[in-house]
Amino acid sequence: MTTTIEHYINDQRVSRDDRYQDVFNPATGQVTGRVALASQQTVAEAVAAAKVAFSGWSDTPPIRRARVLFEYLHLLRERKDELARIITAEHGKVFTDAQGEVDRGIDILEFACGIPHLLKGEHTDQVSRGMDNWTLRQPLGVVAGITPFNFPVMVPMWMYPLAIAAGNTFILKPSPTDPSASLFMAELLREAGLPAGVFNVVQGDKVAVDALLEHPDVKAISFVGSTPIAQHIYETGARHGKRVQGLGGAKNHMVVMPDADIERTVDALIGAAYGSAGERCMAISVAVLVGDVADKIVPALVRRASELRITDGRDLKAEMGPIVSRAALQRINGYIAQGVEAGAQLLLDGRDYTPAEADLRDGFWLGATLFDHVTADMSIYREEIFGPVLACVRVSDFTEALTLVNEHEFGNGVSCFTRDGNVAREFSRRIEVGMVGINVPIPVPMAWHGFGGWKKSLFGDMHAYGTEGVRFYTKQKSIMQRWSESIEKGAEFSMPVSR
Ligand code: NAD
Repeated sequence: MTTTIEHYINDQRVSRDDRYQDVFNPATGQVTGRVALASQQTVAEAVAAAKVAFSGWSDTPPIRRARVLFEYLHLLRERKDELARIITAEHGKVFTDAQGEVDRGIDILEFACGIPHLLKGEHTDQVSRGMDNWTLRQPLGVVAGITPFNFPVMVPMWMYPLAIAAGNTFILKPSPTDPSASLFMAELLREAGLPAGVFNVVQGDKVAVDALLEHPDVKAISFVGSTPIAQHIYETGARHGKRVQGLGGAKNHMVVMPDADIERTVDALIGAAYGSAGERCMAISVAVLVGDVADKIVPALVRRASELRITDGRDLKAEMGPIVSRAALQRINGYIAQGVEAGAQLLLDGRDYTPAEADLRDGFWLGATLFDHVTADMSIYREEIFGPVLACVRVSDFTEALTLVNEHEFGNGVSCFTRDGNVAREFSRRIEVGMVGINVPIPVPMAWHGFGGWKKSLFGDMHAYGTEGVRFYTKQKSIMQRWSESIEKGAEFSMPVSR
């Protein structure tokens, strides 16, 4: 018997659709459940529940909303490992990585608990005699989050803690590939005391997304996923009058200068390229090797990458798990073939990897893959592969490295490894990428700084979480006020000025 993963509307699990999709354990390749795929009617029902809940929730004082989130924080900390196990079972990432994902989600929740302070407005006394002016920020209404498979907990937590702390009600449309974590979070929120209808989950695919995009009562959509879908969501949502942020794909470079510490750089590259099987939007997929540093880095990379401990979540020392799905595995294998065809030098071929354990043989496995002598015209350089494939590109100097990165259509994350402060400073100032690391391979900003790329990695003008997240989920209102003693008699026909 497989379990059915349902929707969560108005504090009830509901399953009334006739379309389903299989959910797999990627390590074994076995079907472990089936997820309901919402119809337009199911989405309408969730939006209606969220709309009803909005009036009471948005009127609840921010400090009381924060108290519910504090309680949720407490429960989430207690049950963190259960949630991490759910992630590993459906996504395949190793258990310690799943624990880290939950921890980074908790960071945002902690930030959202400070909502009374974050919502404080600005006040000016006496803008004219007897008149004051102030601004406040109010919630938007029903808002939705559409999330990718690769962080089934952390990416939704970039969105809903701030959205609901600010007084909105929320509909999460998770990836159908690993949908169970969403229900675990919904039930924990209920246990924390969140009123019914404030947080809802609709499971589904394009049908559910289209219904959210077109529904007039959905006021804002946060999307995280691949670039073509992000662009589509941004354009369609905006056409329907919604506020939209669409975070898209990536091709993250690490520039290695000749003076970099070789051992530490190789450690950083191995973790950033192959951690979570490269299925992170901040994974490093291109190593830009400047000058003669390639001669030292490449042999060390081959040695380290071929020793990776690749197995499933039962092994707590595992460094890399399986690929998320058979389709993703086939897509990545296709890119490896294209790289060979284009003339890149394949130093490690992950397609050769087979797990030692007999019960994992039907899983979606791929070993670490390493290309050298990759050039900017190759598809394995230009396109997002989203797997454990690292491409080494050799350049002669810093300027060539900078130009290469800046000419790429994506601009999510980048890093530079060097011991030279001037190089680091120039790099940070001149690089056209949203998130920059200096000797930091995966520079995911902390909860209060906000996350977002440039160019085709983000559609919209506000980044996720941090103070930009608070702005995204609220609208500003300006109020001017005076009382009878200071109101002058007589109609005024000229433009009012300060008196
Ligand atoms: P995806 O674009 O396939 O799916 C993302 C979401 O969109 C899912 O909820 C999915 O159900 C929905 N969707 C898929 N096809 C759709 C369609 N035709 N119309 C409407 N909705 C559709 O992405 P994925 O494979 O789940 O995740 C991997 C991608 O996400 C990578 O490109 C990665 O770079 C990106 N990502 C980006 C960030 C970031 O912050 N920029 C973070 C994580 C992942």
